[in-house]
Amino acid sequence: MSTHSSTVHNSLGEQIYQSTGQSVACCYQCGKCSAGCPLASETDYPPNQILRLLQFGDSTLDEKALRSLTIWQCLTCQTCSARCPQEVDLPKIMDFLRQESWRQGRAHPKARNIIAFHRSFLGSIRMTGRMFELGMIMDYKRRSLNFLQDLLLAPKLLFRGKLHFLPHRIDGAKQVRRLFDATARKRGRTE
Ligand code: SF4
Ligand code: SF4
Repeated sequence: MSTHSSTVHNSLGEQIYQSTGQSVACCYQCGKCSAGCPLASETDYPPNQILRLLQFGDSTLDEKALRSLTIWQCLTCQTCSARCPQEVDLPKIMDFLRQESWRQGRAHPKARNIIAFHRSFLGSIRMTGRMFELGMIMDYKRRSLNFLQDLLLAPKLLFRGKLHFLPHRIDGAKQVRRLFDATARKRGRTE
């Protein structure tokens, strides 16, 4: 459903609309998304307030949304979109905000480990076409500098055969890598 206004140009809300088709103007602030969001009490802004910040088309408020911790804590669980009477796809908006926040170097300092995990996870998929757990964990520790975190779990995981020393490449690994590289080129950067 779209009641998007074209009066607010170049705002973050406008960019979201152009990129995802989601209109922040559709939200009438009923709060049903935040009432069901499992993270609403832990975040700096509950999800409906993120949309409220974006509704003004004001660069200062846009920046608050980009610098929020909420966008990084969002689990993409879809509870909010399932409850929304206006069919606003909040997870899609959160996804856009995360990308934009990182691209602009405005990510919340507490999101550092979350971003490290995202990058290590995607790096593993890019290299082999599927998850290589041991490689991902080592890359995550290098990025996050959390060398001792969960260290005692490693022997148990190895014993149960959950960690493998060598990656297993899928048949279409090269094609997967090309997709990643094409996406990075489109965004004007290399990972
Ligand atoms: S449930 Fe939908 S309309 Fe209500 S506040 Fe959340 S996003 Fe806005
Ligand atoms: S998708 Fe994100 S914002 Fe929506 S309910 Fe889940 S955690 Fe909250």
